[in-house]
Amino acid sequence: MHELSIAQSIVELANEIAVNENAETIQTIDIEIGALSGVVFEALEFALEMTVKNTKLEGAKINYLKISGLAKCSNCKFQFKTNDLLAFCPKCDQANFKIINGKQLRIKSLTV
Ligand SMILES: [Zn+2]
Repeated sequence: MHELSIAQSIVELANEIAVNENAETIQTIDIEIGALSGVVFEALEFALEMTVKNTKLEGAKINYLKISGLAKCSNCKFQFKTNDLLAFCPKCDQANFKIINGKQLRIKSLTV
């Protein structure tokens, strides 16, 4: 399960930050999750619920910030929202574009 290893790395990273800050527990954590990150949100949420047990993240409030996908057409330079890696430019109908937002999955901020 892909999401379980992602959840584990989030917990490890959060733990490292807390150790650096000399914090016993983490109060809140904000996680940015892009619509194009390839991660199933519900699966990640579930995996995190299991993974935080007995860590500094246990009991922390986890905020998920969902980022929608944004693409830029390589043909006509039009920018459009997409939550799918297989899409067509709404202006010129080409499938040749670069993703400029929505692929990230990261800890945005953390309060100890
Ligand atoms: Zn286009």
